[in-house]
Amino acid sequence: MEPTGTSVKGTDVDRRQTRTVMSGTTASCSHCSKQLSALQRCSRCKQASYCGAACQHAAWKGHKKTCVTLNDVIEKVNAAAANGIWREVIKWEGRSQEMMENRPDAGCENVLQVFAKAQMGGLNETGNSTHALSVVGLEKRRVEVLGRMQRFRDQGDAMCNIGDHLVMLRRRQESSLYFQRARNLGQAHGFLSIECTSCLGLGRLAMAEGRTQEGLDLLRNALVCAPLSEGDHIVLELRVLQCFTDALFRTHAIDEVELMISRYREAATAKSDTYFVLHSLYVSARLHEVSFFFVTLEPRVKWYTSL
Ligand SMILES: [Zn+2]
Ligand SMILES: [Zn+2]
Repeated sequence: MEPTGTSVKGTDVDRRQTRTVMSGTTASCSHCSKQLSALQRCSRCKQASYCGAACQHAAWKGHKKTCVTLNDVIEKVNAAAANGIWREVIKWEGRSQEMMENRPDAGCENVLQVFAKAQMGGLNETGNSTHALSVVGLEKRRVEVLGRMQRFRDQGDAMCNIGDHLVMLRRRQESSLYFQRARNLGQAHGFLSIECTSCLGLGRLAMAEGRTQEGLDLLRNALVCAPLSEGDHIVLELRVLQCFTDALFRTHAIDEVELMISRYREAATAKSDTYFVLHSLYVSARLHEVSFFFVTLEPRVKWYTSL
């Protein structure tokens, strides 16, 4: 349909971009609420719809306060994210949903990622599972966008992140599907970090469901891939070792724990990561049946106090 000018003189609404959209729907005019089959959307924000120029003109004085473009949102979101304020970032999430729907490009991917990180920040701080649910939703959309952009490594990482958060939500079956998808993708492209992370996820699921042998095999495979991975391979190795040593204790494979322990402590020390240094010490203590008690204010290591 030809654009019919809904631009208004004296405003910064750009007539050239104004489109007639939503033909055949029952949406209503943002100003007069009239139900019409063909509405015109505000060319800036693509959020407000009008029956015609007169209504757009009349509504502009009020509408301009909330009329933001995706670029405006990206700017505000990035500023909030740079200051690490996850609450502030999440505030913008609702506003940008519809705007992003029609623009599956690099800008959207960037915003989706910032939102996902903010939701993970919220999850860390509050432990509220609604944040995990949001991460899953955002990452699912990112997986689609990244696929179109052919950024397969990032796509695999996002799939694993979905898997991890589905585990938190106790949706194991769906989680397993995402880890499996990631693993297939990692194998197809030769991404060892994806192979490692997906095997870690699948291995943990297998252990949790009592498929011990399968779990151990998957974790062993993850451990082989970890040092060969692209990116921060020490962190990957630590994540696998934490899970693997725990699995070995559960199967009473104490000899193998003994073989792992120096590798574990070396990696933890190399990374100077308090959490993993403590955990590797805890594994040593458990191996030698020495009691281990550690009190810390750091939230990540809270669980040591209960051992
Ligand atoms: Zn109207
Ligand atoms: Zn607008």
